[in-house]
Amino acid sequence: MKDLINLLQELSSCPGPPGGEEPVAAIIRRHLEPSCQIQRDGLGSLIASKQGSRKQPRLMLTAHMDEVGFMLQNITEGGYLRLQPLGGWIASNLPGQRVHINGSKGAVEGIVAAVPPHFKKEQKSELKVEDLLVDVGAASKKEIASLGLQLGDLITPVSHFAIYNKKLLANKAWDDRVGCAVLVAAMKQLSSHPNTVVATATVQEEVGTRGAVTAVEVVKPQAAVVLEGAPADDFPGITKDSPQGAVGKGCQIRLFDPSTIIHRHFWQWVTELAKKNKIAHQLAVRQSGATDARPIHLAQGGIPTVVLAVPVRYAHGHSGLIHLDDFQATLKLTLAILKKLDNKILKSLLPA
Ligand SMILES: [Zn+2]
Repeated sequence: MKDLINLLQELSSCPGPPGGEEPVAAIIRRHLEPSCQIQRDGLGSLIASKQGSRKQPRLMLTAHMDEVGFMLQNITEGGYLRLQPLGGWIASNLPGQRVHINGSKGAVEGIVAAVPPHFKKEQKSELKVEDLLVDVGAASKKEIASLGLQLGDLITPVSHFAIYNKKLLANKAWDDRVGCAVLVAAMKQLSSHPNTVVATATVQEEVGTRGAVTAVEVVKPQAAVVLEGAPADDFPGITKDSPQGAVGKGCQIRLFDPSTIIHRHFWQWVTELAKKNKIAHQLAVRQSGATDARPIHLAQGGIPTVVLAVPVRYAHGHSGLIHLDDFQATLKLTLAILKKLDNKILKSLLPA
């Protein structure tokens, strides 16, 4: 257990905005290199394969390495930084938060700032990320340059890892470092499986599932399992109905989101497997969002794909929470799928 918590801490603490996933890839490579064959694609996705008793089917197991972040968009005459969002941020959550600008001399900390309410004549409509500035304590463009910062630098939230009430883990980037942690732990634990498992840690998911578009061409899978950190909906006020992604209630099996109608026979088979193995799970029909399943299920004539997720409270912010039991349920279900899914079962799930 200690090892798994360390892995979750290591992966969620590391910076990796879209286009800057290398630190995450280095961690995953270090963990998987001893037991898997490693390959990279041209955009940076890391592909780690493990062959079992059979070459086929090829199963793609994916999680995305990137987290929501920013790019340094511009520098004001007075030495403030403007932000280009990389992924979906809620601007009103940002003022007062700290960020790291990952420059050529290492990370520089700054505070995200908006015009303070004391100076506002009237409440402006909605705050946008474009209205925000980052203060790193510099007074000019020259001072910004001397800190080693320039346009294009990648920016990530500053947060820290903590354990709440023994089972809840707090940090940034659970979407999707918790998926990366499931991927790493599953590949390390995987043995005697009737297929080839190709674990793929993708890049640039948060800017429109781009990394999976290129990775799936390299992997050429026959079925895919996408691992996610999905937004939890058990916070008061989100839904009047029963939540479908409650923290502590198990692995979320997604049936739908606007980007993907999940392969019906495949999710039904996965749900049965969860029941048989007594793995806590919850079904979700999501009315928003998208995952790497979007490009994967549409590739190469159609690839049956399922999405398993650990619910994340306050995703796409500086601090989120996940439940250790959900992580373990997702890991267990992932391993159950990989150990069971052979050519015969896959064929039975496909249209006759
Ligand atoms: Zn995600």
